[in-house]
This record gives sequence, C-alpha cells and structure tokens, in this order.
Amino acid sequence: MAWRCHGNTHRELIDNLQRAGLLRTPRVIEAMKKIDRGHFTVEGPTSAMSYRDSPQPIGYNATISAPHMHCEMIELLEGHLKDGAVALDVGSGSGYLTAVMADLCSPTGRTYGVEHIPELVEMSQANAEKSCPRLLASGCLKFVVADGQMGLPDAECRSLKQEGKEMPLFDAIHVGAAAAAIPDSLLHQLKPGGVMVIPVGPKGGDQTLMKLTKDAAGRVHRENITSVIFVPLTSKEAQLADDNSTKVNLLSLMLSSLRGQGE
Ligand code: SAH
Repeated sequence: MAWRCHGNTHRELIDNLQRAGLLRTPRVIEAMKKIDRGHFTVEGPTSAMSYRDSPQPIGYNATISAPHMHCEMIELLEGHLKDGAVALDVGSGSGYLTAVMADLCSPTGRTYGVEHIPELVEMSQANAEKSCPRLLASGCLKFVVADGQMGLPDAECRSLKQEGKEMPLFDAIHVGAAAAAIPDSLLHQLKPGGVMVIPVGPKGGDQTLMKLTKDAAGRVHRENITSVIFVPLTSKEAQLADDNSTKVNLLSLMLSSLRGQGE
C-alpha cells in the first residue's frame, strides 16, 4: 500500500494519502496540509525525496517515520486531539507529528515532544520555526530533552499544574519508537478517558502497534492495531552505539516500509 502514496510535493503526498484512505478525518487532513513534511526532512521542501512514503534517516540512528504511519497514528488519536487538549509525543525525532498534534490541540491546548537526543530536539525546534512558528510562539508546541520512557519530566509537569491542571496530564500520548514493554510512567500520565498509541515489541521485529484506552475508573483497555517495525525506545547510549545491528535494523525498517508495514 505504501508505495502508492508517494508525491512530488507535499500537496500531492497528502492527496495520495487521502485517496488511499489513510487520511480520512477532514480536520486531520487540514492539519497535515498546513505542516509541510519537507520542513522536517534532511532533504528539505525542494526535494521530491521528502515526499516519498518511506521513513528517512535524520541522523543519530533515528528516522522521520513514513507518511502512511504518521497518518495511522494521528487518525487513531484524532478524537483526543481537540482544542484545549494536552498531548505528548514520545521520541519526537524530526518534530513532524508533534507539530501536527499541536495544530490539532491549538489554540488553547498544549503538545510536548520529548526526545532524548539534544541535537534532534534542536533540529525539531528549527524545523518547527520554519513550518509553524505560531505554534511555538503561542506555547502550543514545546520540545523537551528527556528520556521519554519516564514521560514528561517533573519540571514541565509542575508548570502545567501551576496552571491549575492536576496529574494525570495527557488526553493523548503518541510513542514513536518501539517499547520492549509498556512504560508504567506513561500509563500514569494518561488521563482517564485518554488514549495512548505505542509500538510494543523487541528491537528489529515482531512489534505490534497497540492502542491503550484508560476508562473513567482508571482501567486500561488494550487493542492490537497492526504489525509494525519501529526503531527501539531505548537509552541514548544504546541508540548512539554505532553497531551493525542498528544499521541492519534501519535497513529492515526501510524495506518493511516498502511492504507497507514499517514506521
Ligand atoms: N515520530 C518521529 C519518529 C522518530 S524515530 C518522527 O517521525 O520524526 C524515534 C525517535 O525516538 C528517535 O528520534 C529516537 O531518538 C527517539 N527515542 C528513542 N528512545 C527514546 C527515549 N528513551 N526517550 C526519548 N526519545 C527516544
């Protein structure tokens, strides 16, 4: 399915994703149109490479996920990304999906991107400055350097609580890297009624995209959505170790994307 969605421009890519049924909700389509993927890739908006439906390396053994995977994630979360909602993007990488989430929660909501590689946070900040400076200036979008397995760091949580909001904080959580097991800290930070989407499984294969919904009583309901391959949610040291298994993992991820499976 994935190869059908390539475009030469951002508009063409969005039209093809819509035609393929991967983008369905009008307000999601509008948000994705506003946030040009070309501002978040290494190649930039003048290269057709930016609009291919595949993951692309962004350095530091990370990738910007494929457009069809961004669509799958955002459509799963859409009902919880409303004006005023508070959202978290763990492993925000290029910052693309964080910006789309922030647009959907604006003008009064907030979206945090948490990423453990400081250089990627700088890059995502610069990408968003080019693409959607209004979201940054208004405080609707913020990138934070931290280990996302622990959720949003305390200092940021405190600033939210000072505005009168109590823990747990998030209406929607997106995790953009595969967790070996669902991190408790993320479940704790999910509000009753909130939804988290997270790839779960071992590095390099047999991962399942899961949708977790917390009900009003705090019980968590799990749904398996599809098989996926994502880079691992791991420590900074493990990610940066320039070993062959990381390279093989990135290669298999790009190949599986051609089959419509990878991130
Ligand atoms: N949704 C992002 C995906 C980036 S790839 C995009 O489309 O651009 C996954 C990201 O997760 C990488 O940037 C990687 O650095 C980050 N990551 C992996 N483990 C992490 C952790 N423990 N804490 C924070 N970020 C992590």
